[in-house]
Amino acid sequence: MLMSNTPSLENFWMPFTANRQFKAAPRLLAGAKGMYYTDVDGGQVLDGTAGLWCVNAGHGREKIADSVSRQLMTMDYAPTFQMGHPYVFDFAEKLAAIAPGGKAAGLTKVFFTGSGSESVDTALKIAIAYQRAIGQGTRTRVIGRERGYHGVGFGGISVGGLVNNRRVFPTLPGVDHMRHTHDPARNAFVKNGLPEHGADLADDLERLVALHGAETIAAVIVEPVAGSTGVLLPPKGYLERLRAISKKHGILLIFDEVITGFGRLGTPFAVDYFGVVPDLVTTAKGLTNGVVPMGAVFASEAVHDALMVGPESQIELFHGYTYSGHPVACAAGLATLEIYREEGLLTRAAELADHWQEAMHSLNGLPNVIDIRTIGLVAGIELAPRADAAGARGYDVFVDCFNKGLLVRVTGDTIALSPPLIVEKEQIDTMASMLGDAIKRAA
Ligand code: PLP
Repeated sequence: MLMSNTPSLENFWMPFTANRQFKAAPRLLAGAKGMYYTDVDGGQVLDGTAGLWCVNAGHGREKIADSVSRQLMTMDYAPTFQMGHPYVFDFAEKLAAIAPGGKAAGLTKVFFTGSGSESVDTALKIAIAYQRAIGQGTRTRVIGRERGYHGVGFGGISVGGLVNNRRVFPTLPGVDHMRHTHDPARNAFVKNGLPEHGADLADDLERLVALHGAETIAAVIVEPVAGSTGVLLPPKGYLERLRAISKKHGILLIFDEVITGFGRLGTPFAVDYFGVVPDLVTTAKGLTNGVVPMGAVFASEAVHDALMVGPESQIELFHGYTYSGHPVACAAGLATLEIYREEGLLTRAAELADHWQEAMHSLNGLPNVIDIRTIGLVAGIELAPRADAAGARGYDVFVDCFNKGLLVRVTGDTIALSPPLIVEKEQIDTMASMLGDAIKRAA
């Protein structure tokens, strides 16, 4: 590789990182294979987070590497504006074959993007364009939810509900939010299913309709399971209710499946897990196993077809990216789908979910553990914040785990785990025991 042995840390402005703190005590990964990273000193780090919720088939997959390198030498780049290439049509067709909710759900039209954030902005724009196309041009308002994370585009931060991502930046006009569904007083340490309480929180959409008028609202977007804000599970019946209310008022429902897509819950998509069919689904991450950046929006045929009107020479949607349908990303995605199919990875989390749940709930009773939430191969272990130092305990646990050879993710004082879907039971047990030890040390 064309790299100096000891690069300076000065020039890379790191995302979502306390740059000065990090550069004083860096954590540098240099290699990855299977379930493990190797750090620059040669230490093994067990990957408890599939990178950033994306490396679902594990690291260093030769099939993907071969496909990508073949594609690089066949055709490295080609535009998809007014042009095409067979790889992108092939990938879209194969994605449609496993689309959220199966064929019957009709989410078979695929718009490619370069990331989850771009998928979110794309879905919001498609929703607004759709409403206009069906004669509902006053519907430009989009509704999100508190504690939602939808990436960092201006659309995504507007519908998102994380104050740190919003307080410095202006947001889209007209956006409003439903309350989040997290209710630790009534739903702590839920096991074997979804929280009992909170389906009525979906009625917030009714309240927003009453406040703003349905004729102003284009779409509502939620993560079926909120990931980045601490693994928040939907209460029983909540998503069904949101679907019913949105349909009643002509509001499109968008599921942001950037995390839940591609097997994380034990079904190909959260749509399949919950049996609730939205109008648009945003994805990224596991789409290419995280190997090449790419996102995709699955749109319903109804939404797509409503825009396929007017003169045939007219561009139906003025939207797209230089890297929409990038051939190298398609090559990575096609190989990833093959691995998912050959190894049954899109449903493997379902086989491991009980073991996972037991291992994670074994941390119940450790100092400062105030909630544990699991679904599929995801877990959120919430720790009590230190007095006047929210997030400090969680961060200490994260650093301690890393130093001992386990990669976890921290959001506030919640430790999130989401290992590659190839994880073995013993590795799950190791994760639980290493995390437990770190939690004890952080008491
Ligand atoms: N939406 C959700 C639900 C996410 O979890 C993320 C990233 O974690 C995004 C959108 C943004 O994706 P990206 O970082 O690829 O832009």
